[in-house]
Amino acid sequence: MTFATDIVCPRCRNKFSLAKVHSLCPCGSPLFVRYDAKKIRRAVKKSDLKNRPSDLWRYREFLPLRAEKNRVSLGEGFTPLIEAKRLAAELGIRKLWIKDEAQNPTGSFKDRGLSVAVSLAKELGIKKVAIPSAGNAGGSLSAYAARAGMESHVFMPRDTPKANQIEAARYGARLTLVEGLINDCGKIIAERKAAEGWFDLSTLKEPYRLEGKKTMGLEIAEQLGWKLPDVIIYPTGGGTGLIGMWKGFGELEEIGWIGARRPRMVSVQADGCAPIVRAYNGGKERAEPWVDARTIASGLRVPQAVADFLMLGVIRASKGTALSVSDAEMVAEIDRVGRLEGLFFCPEGAAGVAALSRLTGRGWIKPTETVLIFNTASGLKYIDALFA
Ligand SMILES: *Cc1c(COP(=O)(O)O)cnc(C)c1O
Ligand SMILES: [Zn+2]
Repeated sequence: MTFATDIVCPRCRNKFSLAKVHSLCPCGSPLFVRYDAKKIRRAVKKSDLKNRPSDLWRYREFLPLRAEKNRVSLGEGFTPLIEAKRLAAELGIRKLWIKDEAQNPTGSFKDRGLSVAVSLAKELGIKKVAIPSAGNAGGSLSAYAARAGMESHVFMPRDTPKANQIEAARYGARLTLVEGLINDCGKIIAERKAAEGWFDLSTLKEPYRLEGKKTMGLEIAEQLGWKLPDVIIYPTGGGTGLIGMWKGFGELEEIGWIGARRPRMVSVQADGCAPIVRAYNGGKERAEPWVDARTIASGLRVPQAVADFLMLGVIRASKGTALSVSDAEMVAEIDRVGRLEGLFFCPEGAAGVAALSRLTGRGWIKPTETVLIFNTASGLKYIDALFA
């Protein structure tokens, strides 16, 4: 049972059927699932959520899966929102929330997108899936594909953190290490998928990972009593989280659960790979590919994203901003959050802390504002990369 009605292109407004397998729109844009807001509103009330399981499937009316038997779940989502009082005091702000995505089944928020995408793949009768990954997506897909009984093919850069390589192999994926970056991995899949019969689960090249990531926006709203924070800082690679949360907020407004007020959405990237920041600062609608991308934050090592224009649109529409930080700042912030809050942040999450520190220093974030940051994965997955 789903209230999804169809799939639409946010750029050219072309419409597509839910019953078929889709990749990008012929115009090159990612595709969005649409829902019947009236039906959702009639089917579910805020108070109904209280009795639901603590995973992202509590928002089933907002997801495109038709039959519950096709759900492929390991308990992903509904991660805790932790108030960081000691860190907030040090940074001089009153309210700081950490959404701790390390507590997902494979230790990163990639599980949200891949639980939903693998469930939809199962529902559409797909048997083989493939993914290019900068790290965590590969491990996550491998786990969900194993649970669904599907064959999975994972392509990662050779210098991806060891934990990501090891977990993918332990979950039974066919793992290929590639000389190059995630985009080079994506090219190999694009060349081989037709002959091999693979469903390509590249970021935003199918419409369902976005739906899974969208649940972060629904959770933030629910966990904060349907009052969104003033600022959300998001470590941005392919951009599913940024675009997904924004989509989720729009759907919540459509059914009347929140008003028109939105957080200012901040995109943080690494100094060594910051295509979105460069495009934002240059007033551009598209981002040029980043040459020689380099950062310990492997999830941010995405030199070119198909959804660049959608991310830039969200940042601007929200009156947010974009900035990059150095690897050294990330390492320093991992230590600071560990010491102050007892959370072992990944470098990507720590980039958010570094961005927060800069934006409060500059006065862009006021001491009275409510801020939300993410720990997008467990620091434990980066031991070799960080402490070699
Ligand atoms: C993938 C990833 C990101 C970036 O997420 P997008 O939604 O693709 O922008 C950030 N942090 C970690 C740990 C990741 O694995
Ligand atoms: Zn289109």
